Amino acid sequence: MPWIERLIAFDTTSRNSNLGLIETVRDHLRSLGVEPVLTYHASGTKANMFATLPAHDGSTTGGIVLSGHTDVVPVDGQAWNSDPFKATTRDGKLYARGACDMKGFIGTALSLLPEMQATRLARPLHLALSFDEEVGCAGAPLMIMDLQARGVLPEGCIIGEPTGMRPVVAHKGINLYRCHVHGHAVHSSLTPQGVNAIEYAARMICFIRDLADKYRAEGPYDQHFEVPFTTAQTGMISGGIANNVVPSLCEFSFQVRNLPTVNVGEIIRQIQSYAHDVLVPRMRDEHPDARIEFSKISVAPALDDAQEGAITERVRTLTQDHDKRKVSYGTEAGLFKAAGIPAVICGPGDIEQAHKADEFVALDQLRECALFLRRFVRGMAVAE
Ligand SMILES: [Zn+2]
Repeated sequence: MPWIERLIAFDTTSRNSNLGLIETVRDHLRSLGVEPVLTYHASGTKANMFATLPAHDGSTTGGIVLSGHTDVVPVDGQAWNSDPFKATTRDGKLYARGACDMKGFIGTALSLLPEMQATRLARPLHLALSFDEEVGCAGAPLMIMDLQARGVLPEGCIIGEPTGMRPVVAHKGINLYRCHVHGHAVHSSLTPQGVNAIEYAARMICFIRDLADKYRAEGPYDQHFEVPFTTAQTGMISGGIANNVVPSLCEFSFQVRNLPTVNVGEIIRQIQSYAHDVLVPRMRDEHPDARIEFSKISVAPALDDAQEGAITERVRTLTQDHDKRKVSYGTEAGLFKAAGIPAVICGPGDIEQAHKADEFVALDQLRECALFLRRFVRGMAVAE
């Protein structure tokens, strides 16, 4: 069975274990004489895998990483025309959850392992598979820390997220936070004695919206992005237990998607200082127990194109595409870049087709990806 179909058959929805997939790939690599390094989630139920095909002289440091995430988004509530965990081909398209995001790329890379191993590589070639990308790039940092600890120091990384096989050089950062507003509960007939957590949460949420409106109205702007400014929004909220109780707790989560040039720490600080310097004193006037807390859910740093690496030039040359393409979705590229590993995004399929019912990748795209990777590997061979 082709690798892409084998990968798809594992239901690696982010909430599930990905060990079935990881161990299958690991065992295959072992059978080829490659011993991958696994880094585990604290629960032990998920792992990243990093495998190195050494250079012809045996060196294992430096080189290029081909990177993909193994998890997929849920299919809950989606109406599929075929089993999402069984690759189904019709009309030149391969349908399945993860077909384009991003088992198509991983499967294509794995299918080329024999050619990679047959090449006298000037520098090592690494394969990186991560977990929990879809829930905020939570897995890859463990793998990157391990690379740093082992001194692997790759010179560049290709992230095979769906870009239609055209290089993407920058993306926004995604910063997801939860805000817990603690008021004070009393019977609603006694509202002046309570602190209404929902009402103060509403003020927080309006502040975040006002901040977002300011970025929209005043910039900074980067017209290479579809949405050319930094955005922020509240995505989920819960609070209150009954109509006749002043709510003591309201929680909401908000996200900031920053342009690479915008300091997101500064935005978060403004939000927190509105809470602590403006709202909390007012709340404490009503009851001393009141407080507002923030917790970071996930942060995926932006990918900045300010200093593009040699890897970007190489991918541009191979794809003959020199456009400065920037996207609004996040990837693990920003994490690699932040760790000093230049990264570029280039993979088969269209992000438009990801995450939806009947997700698919065009077979043409998979062929183009295989051709690209083949040329890329050939380009890494020792000059004869
Ligand atoms: Zn993805």
